[in-house]
Amino acid sequence: MGNRLAIRGAAVAAAVFLCLGGIPAPPALPGAPPALAAGPVSGVPASVPAAWTATVAVGPVSAGTVPEVGAATSTVRRPPASVRSLGVLVNKSRPLKPATYVPKLTTIKGTSFRLRPEAAAAYRKMAAAAGKDGIRFRVVSAYRSYARQKQLYAQYTRLYGKAYADRISARPGKSEHQTGLALDLGAASGRGQLAGSFAATREAKWLAKNAYKYGFILRYPKGKEKTTGYAYEPWHYRYVGKTISKAMKAQKLKTLEAYYFGP
Ligand SMILES: [Zn+2]
Repeated sequence: MGNRLAIRGAAVAAAVFLCLGGIPAPPALPGAPPALAAGPVSGVPASVPAAWTATVAVGPVSAGTVPEVGAATSTVRRPPASVRSLGVLVNKSRPLKPATYVPKLTTIKGTSFRLRPEAAAAYRKMAAAAGKDGIRFRVVSAYRSYARQKQLYAQYTRLYGKAYADRISARPGKSEHQTGLALDLGAASGRGQLAGSFAATREAKWLAKNAYKYGFILRYPKGKEKTTGYAYEPWHYRYVGKTISKAMKAQKLKTLEAYYFGP
């Protein structure tokens, strides 16, 4: 979820940026689904039965047969209850609790942006490693307060209407940026900033390949809008800690929702 620039970025990416009296027309994204309302994201249960935390056997089951022991098994997990947990799951059906939560924050060195100390330290390590490969990032956004998100969402709604605003921006109290664990990254050159075209940059490719090693995940991958509730954002990375990021990589899980509720 971006800032003012995201409006421009998304519009440019969609190649539809018609200035009508100074107000850009809503960008038409390809394959636009019906509006994602404030309701639960499809496929993501709002609450999970306790039994889901058990290890379940996944495999072919037919009448009169028992699933093969030791066949494919997967652990269905449960998202942490505390908003302070590094693995916290925040989406359209799981708001922050409390809605006005403010995490402990530290300034990311060399920028005016803030993150939780764990995420800031991990970002520094990741940026240093990228630097060795000749890759330099620009932090475009990191922590955003409830008040700031409220402002942004109102701005998007005025410009594009609620349906489109809900695809590209979180409502206040439902933004991952408010956890202090999410950041929007761009290339130091500014190329493709907060736009779909960022995906084609060396910086985005480096992140897609290496971010998990530092505890970050691409939070809104391509083709997962029905699960995450948001359009593809090649720039939005979320710190979840290495345990989760590496498990997701190993199990080829693309979203945090899939990590907790199964693919
Ligand atoms: Zn973002």
